[in-house]
Amino acid sequence: MNLQEIVTKKYNKEISQCSNEELYFALLEMVKGMAEKKESNEGKKKLYYISAEFLIGKLLSNNLINLGVYDEVRELLAANGKDICAVEEVEPEPSLGNGGLGRLAACFLDSIATLGLNGDGVGLNYHYGLFKQVFENNLQKETKNPWIEDQSWLTKTDKTYDIQFGGFTLKSRLYDIDVTGYENRTNKLHLFDVETVDESIVGDGINFDKTDIAKNLTLFLYPDDSDDAGRILRVYQQYFMVSNGARLILDEAVERGCNLHDLADYATIQINDTHPSMVIPEMIRLLMERGIGIDEAIEIVTNTCAYTNHTILAEALEKWPISYLEKAVPQLMPIIYELNNRVMKKYDDKSVYIIDDERRVHMAHMDIHYGYSVNGVAYLHTEILKDSELNNFYKIYPEKFNNKTNGITFRRWLLHCNKNLTSLLEELIGSGFKKDAMELEKLAKYADDDAVLEKLLAVKDAKKVELKNYLKATQNIDIDENSVYDIQIKRLHEYKRQQMNALYVINKYFEIKAGKKPARPITAIFGAKAAPAYVIAKDIIHLILCLQQLIDNDPEVSPYLKVVMVENYNVTLAEKLIPAADIHEQISLASKEASGTSNMKFMLNGAVAIGTEDGANVEMHDLVGDDNIYIFGESSDQVIEHYAKADYVSKKYYEEDADIKKAVDFIVSDELMAIGNRENLERLYNELINKDWFMTLLDWETYRAKKDEMLADYEDRKAWAKKMIINISKAGFFSSDRTIDQYNKEIWKLN
Ligand SMILES: *Cc1c(COP(=O)(O)O)cnc(C)c1O
Repeated sequence: MNLQEIVTKKYNKEISQCSNEELYFALLEMVKGMAEKKESNEGKKKLYYISAEFLIGKLLSNNLINLGVYDEVRELLAANGKDICAVEEVEPEPSLGNGGLGRLAACFLDSIATLGLNGDGVGLNYHYGLFKQVFENNLQKETKNPWIEDQSWLTKTDKTYDIQFGGFTLKSRLYDIDVTGYENRTNKLHLFDVETVDESIVGDGINFDKTDIAKNLTLFLYPDDSDDAGRILRVYQQYFMVSNGARLILDEAVERGCNLHDLADYATIQINDTHPSMVIPEMIRLLMERGIGIDEAIEIVTNTCAYTNHTILAEALEKWPISYLEKAVPQLMPIIYELNNRVMKKYDDKSVYIIDDERRVHMAHMDIHYGYSVNGVAYLHTEILKDSELNNFYKIYPEKFNNKTNGITFRRWLLHCNKNLTSLLEELIGSGFKKDAMELEKLAKYADDDAVLEKLLAVKDAKKVELKNYLKATQNIDIDENSVYDIQIKRLHEYKRQQMNALYVINKYFEIKAGKKPARPITAIFGAKAAPAYVIAKDIIHLILCLQQLIDNDPEVSPYLKVVMVENYNVTLAEKLIPAADIHEQISLASKEASGTSNMKFMLNGAVAIGTEDGANVEMHDLVGDDNIYIFGESSDQVIEHYAKADYVSKKYYEEDADIKKAVDFIVSDELMAIGNRENLERLYNELINKDWFMTLLDWETYRAKKDEMLADYEDRKAWAKKMIINISKAGFFSSDRTIDQYNKEIWKLN
């Protein structure tokens, strides 16, 4: 049915008489119908991408683009006096992910369908997602983020399983979301839910009874893990996800003709970080239940599962106490003991055991021994895994290790979020880049074409005005479209060093006070959620919000400098912020950011990076050359050496550099104390001078110098536009279509 037919059936009205809400629900129905027609189940072998997170963003526009009807629908709405952007606004954004890892999974699903591969996502249907961030008194508060409406992208299926936990059983229910490929097939995102979940147990903010598993299992993504109850709930969630996933995989494989002994010819499972690692013992257990001996079951599963590592931060590598597993999933423990015994028999090196001396189960170790592939997510990251973090495993299994540099889907991060730029690119190089991102290279020939550079700057200016209007309308924030937009948006974490950027802002504030005005006003934009129990991260948010208020109220400084922390940073906001950016901040402590993907989104949208040689920045630097990216700071080798020697002492930097001291001291100045809380600001101040585990002060001087150089360069608008065009022309490598093609050719081998 076309849109008018649906509108007539649903509301008995004309399109022009409908509200935006009515049109959204009508389009939802239309898209679901169109997607269903493109469903496909071709191919003997199927990929299952299991992930605790899928940060999918709003789906309406992307689906319309992928189904090839976006322009048609936009015009039809316009002819009836309706604006498609206003209809888009009605759609709620599900927060089914924390940040980069979940967004990566969503980009991958888009590319898997776009490349026509047989592959579905498997995850959980969190009713309230992660959380919605609100600011109160310059502090982050968490509230629930409901997104499931009576009509939504979810389709209830009749698939249910009985999932056994220690002492009780829960009945699951599968919901599906269509994943449309760009002018290609439709795959599925399978989200499991539990029938007994009870939304009414959520009280203030995101508080609820963490022990009532039947009622709370799928309420939130990763509840607060600062206590045992929260951590055990995560184990319940993870097992629920993988047990359902494993049963679905077996059912579908059997339907396609698999006899279980040949499972690896019918299915491949990509384990996205360690959250789904229990799929390994669970699949072994299910195969044994179906009559396969343990030796063979282990071999089958090892040939079916592949693991992606996303981090080298020790605290992020999951290690579950045996006591948790005994309580939540006792049926898995005999299998895990057996897997560990086999490792102990073969290797003397305790560092590769699955169970350590403190009776904790190392999920990544299980993945590496009992999977056929281990991949990192950027060149540097994989090298660090091989050379240091996982070196003991690399020595045992060199053939398992491989790199798959992350990517992003250009449908969302270019075609959808930046139609102005997309049109300009089409005008210059045709539309081949939409299917083959490497065709962006054709832009290079315009790098010295003044008329083209002018047009590119005009596109950027238009997106900057759009962002200004959007922030005014949605958050009542005023920004100056003639200022430089300098943007850092990503989860709040000390290793990402938002605090270093904040110290730059403080330094700039002092310079302006002293009469040294920047050539052009600067707007420093931040967006970040902090984990609810991550105290210092919340203190950093507090500092940034206090700076925002201080500067807004200082007429001496505010014409030249503005700080903005956008509330509830999410995919929707990213889509507005990224096309408008002049400068993007990728300033993690070298060796700590596995890849980063916002760096790729910004590059594709013609922003220029200031960054360390970390994650995928290294590959970006190689691609664009020294003139088109601003690199500063100590190398990953140097940083790793500081950790090894324990020779970084932040206090030395603080005491020996007057500008650092002045900026850090300002955190606890009377001016800021008058706005903010003593407790938060003092704690952050003390952290910076006494601990500073992620070495903020180490690179601060080179960071300041590099950013000042960058701001000066920005004033040569033509030279800057050339940097923009070169960045765009080299962004093709970072298409997730390239990444997925590599996963398929080198890991999955789907036929
Ligand atoms: C891309 C993206 C991220 C990842 O950002 P990094 O800077 O790579 O950490 C996080 N959150 C959202 C909403 C994103 O779109």
